[in-house]
Amino acid sequence: MENTITNIIEKYNNDPLRLMDILIDIQENFGFIGNDAVKEIALALNMSEVDVEQTITFYHFLSTEPRGKYAIYLNNSVVSIMYGQKTIKATFEKEVGISFGQVTADGSIGLFDTACIGMNDQEPAAIINNHVFTKLTPYRVREIVKSMRQGKDMDELINESYGDGKNHLPSLKSMVSSNIRRKGMVLSDNYVYGSVTKLMLPNLSPEAVIQEIKTSHIRGRGGAGFPTGLKWEFCRRAKGDNHFVICNADEGEPGTFKDRVILTEKPELVFEGMVLAGYAIGSDEGILYLRYEYRYMKEYLEDVISTMLKNNLLGSNIAGIDGFNFDIRIQFGAGAYVCGEESALLESLEGKRGEPRDKPPFPVEKGYLNQPTIINNVETFATAVRIVENGGEWFTQFGTEDSTGTKILSISGDCLFPGVYEVNWGFNVNDMLDMVGAYDVQAVQVGGPSGTLIGPDEFHRTLGYSDLSTGGSMIIFGMQRNLLQDVVLNFMEFFIDESCGSCSTCRNMPHVLKNKLEKIINGKGVKGDLADLKEWSKVLNASRCGLGQTAANPIISSLKNFRHLYENLLQRDKEFDQGFDLITSVQRSCKYVKRVPKFHPIE
Ligand code: SF4
Repeated sequence: MENTITNIIEKYNNDPLRLMDILIDIQENFGFIGNDAVKEIALALNMSEVDVEQTITFYHFLSTEPRGKYAIYLNNSVVSIMYGQKTIKATFEKEVGISFGQVTADGSIGLFDTACIGMNDQEPAAIINNHVFTKLTPYRVREIVKSMRQGKDMDELINESYGDGKNHLPSLKSMVSSNIRRKGMVLSDNYVYGSVTKLMLPNLSPEAVIQEIKTSHIRGRGGAGFPTGLKWEFCRRAKGDNHFVICNADEGEPGTFKDRVILTEKPELVFEGMVLAGYAIGSDEGILYLRYEYRYMKEYLEDVISTMLKNNLLGSNIAGIDGFNFDIRIQFGAGAYVCGEESALLESLEGKRGEPRDKPPFPVEKGYLNQPTIINNVETFATAVRIVENGGEWFTQFGTEDSTGTKILSISGDCLFPGVYEVNWGFNVNDMLDMVGAYDVQAVQVGGPSGTLIGPDEFHRTLGYSDLSTGGSMIIFGMQRNLLQDVVLNFMEFFIDESCGSCSTCRNMPHVLKNKLEKIINGKGVKGDLADLKEWSKVLNASRCGLGQTAANPIISSLKNFRHLYENLLQRDKEFDQGFDLITSVQRSCKYVKRVPKFHPIE
């Protein structure tokens, strides 16, 4: 064991910046990162043991306790539950003989819940030792557990039931499906990889590349919508010893999975977009920060990078441009939604807990290693290639005035054809529902839990930055769904689980709001509770990052658009909460602190 750990650390040159890689490799080798490993890492990297432990305990997929030879992570997101996750969970527990959160006594199988794994179009799904199992049924679960009991290899568990598109390739062999249902400029097959780099870049200056991106008016596809051309220009101008290009592939917003599909089907386009960005800002290093849930793509994506190196699309003097050198490496996260926030991502890239930084300074000035850095989404980089190929002006003919180009949507929930759709911005929700075969729709969650829950009276609205802004997640709920119990409560639990805990607002208020929501769901709410929910949610505005600032959105938007659901559950005859028993509460707290109340002594 000691030798293996030493080898792993040496593989990353004893570099503290590669702590995440070291921890992930050790976790995968031994199923946990024990005390001895922590000691050895700390010594070799010249860090304190506490620093190493801090990083380990921040991430869902790292553990100081054994997780089992087969570690099963079952997705507990809303859509997974809508598609039978509870039955699958019960079947796993029955077949394995333990509850979720436990490991069998012989250390063979561990069962764990996990947040959205980016498979909403093929639920219920689980990750087992980095392999994704989709569309689980009780029969399949029994089959899987039986094979585990027989000690079979993961390859034997897969059963050769590979997904569509490139998922069948030998370096992927994945059971995941891409489910591309509508193509536009990004998902289209009419682009020859590398042609912009080889044929156009030698004749374009970095400033000219930035100008095309600016002319296109493209805004970042991750959700925040910052103008991409401006970001690249700011970064190019910022002074630093080095500049970095980071691709944010940490799509953790529940309901989003389009970046997984772009990376599966069009990875060359994403990497080429990073090359263009590197050329534009004067960088020689790019990093793809990929969420751990997509670990199954590692070998495949590394193969693509190798091929690009061989073809002079990466490496030295790219496309014959003297002095233009650019390399890309892949850095995995280890399960933390907040790392999708750009400054938290940077912390994670540097081997630390993914806690968001105070801003300013912004990453374009001080990002990775305090150097000027651009961080863009997978879809943004892929789109940038088509913009440079066809010109910024060409791009503006798609979409609307303030939202140019196309948007790739991840559509899931109660519809006949869940999957990935590339549409022009300006598409309206009614058309989207017709397109995906969704009927009798009660609500659509636009933009994931941090977005908006809209009802039929708003389905005429259009997708775009001036109306319904979205990073791409669209979840459809039919009339049969209990929106408060099944959706809003699940989203609140998600935010509670994913808070990094730095701000007291984000650490505490979602609990308070959730408790009040549960009180209402349990029929004990009064009218004053609705006012409290609205008022108390404002406290979250003081949080440091977007996670905390949007953590009340599930309640705020459902209260605004589905107020009747709340009102129907209230105790109609009560304006104020009469259920609170002051005397009992005082007696109880006195008991806890071992004091004797002056009045109303404890009986
Ligand atoms: Fe962390 Fe929440 Fe504060 Fe963001 S808002 S820094 S996730 S505690």
